[in-house]
Amino acid sequence: MTQTQNDSQQNPAKAGVRTYTGGCHCGAVRYEATVNLADVSRCNCTFCTKFGNIGNVSMKPSAFRLIKGQEHVSRYAREGSPNSRSFCKHCGVMCFGAGDVPELGGEFRSVGVNTLDDVDPSLLTYQYWDGRHDNWQSGPRSSPWPFQPTVS
Ligand SMILES: [Zn+2]
Repeated sequence: MTQTQNDSQQNPAKAGVRTYTGGCHCGAVRYEATVNLADVSRCNCTFCTKFGNIGNVSMKPSAFRLIKGQEHVSRYAREGSPNSRSFCKHCGVMCFGAGDVPELGGEFRSVGVNTLDDVDPSLLTYQYWDGRHDNWQSGPRSSPWPFQPTVS
């Protein structure tokens, strides 16, 4: 085995586009996502911060499949927002999200990388978005964006 093959097996960030399985903690909710784990985002918006924001990977809706547990899923969205997070009603794990942000390519699904089977989040590289300030035009960067003080 070459070093490169070994790296991609050990490190999902180097594995390219692959289909991963994932789910909540109690097993009621299961899904599949075809994604590239070289592109994992963290965001500082109030939504992501409250949900713990361990890291999310986004995909087109067709690359996400809920395998089981639709009846065990509860969804949260801020009133009027097209973006939502879905979590297991039983164990409370925030599993996946859905949304529509034209600046980021339109409709998408996302999953928490911490919910994917056999993926070690400590091996991934994160890109940070400044969602708290709606600063999407700046794109992601390699270090977190600080909160700007609120002018009162
Ligand atoms: Zn559960």
